[in-house]
Amino acid sequence: MQATSISVRTPGRVCMVDITAKIEEVVVKSGVKSGICMVFVPHTTAGITINENADPDVVSDIVKEINKIVPFDDNYDHIEGNSAAHIKASLFGFSQQMIIEEGRLLLGTWQGIYLCEFDGPRNRKVFIKIIEG
Ligand code: ZN
Repeated sequence: MQATSISVRTPGRVCMVDITAKIEEVVVKSGVKSGICMVFVPHTTAGITINENADPDVVSDIVKEINKIVPFDDNYDHIEGNSAAHIKASLFGFSQQMIIEEGRLLLGTWQGIYLCEFDGPRNRKVFIKIIEG
């Protein structure tokens, strides 16, 4: 099955956008009942992660702490001035895989899929590849 993509507008410099419903929609439309769904972001300053989507404080704490772990300014060499965003993106990674069963993503009750923005606000693209099996 051919890869599809979705567009996501990120609202802040560093933020996490819950894209679970958009990914679920692609899975349902695919008609695949059992398989693997790979979600990949083709950018160097954004990432994909899975974490809690019940209490929004979890996401705001992650954003707060990652900004402390990787400061915006630290005498970086990269002339574009967004090294912090590149480092955060590599720490989070650019893809996640989920299991599809009975035509739905097999996620935990409290899990959501997030596009992690580290150099926004921007329009981002997310690729979704579904493998039946
Ligand atoms: Zn750069």
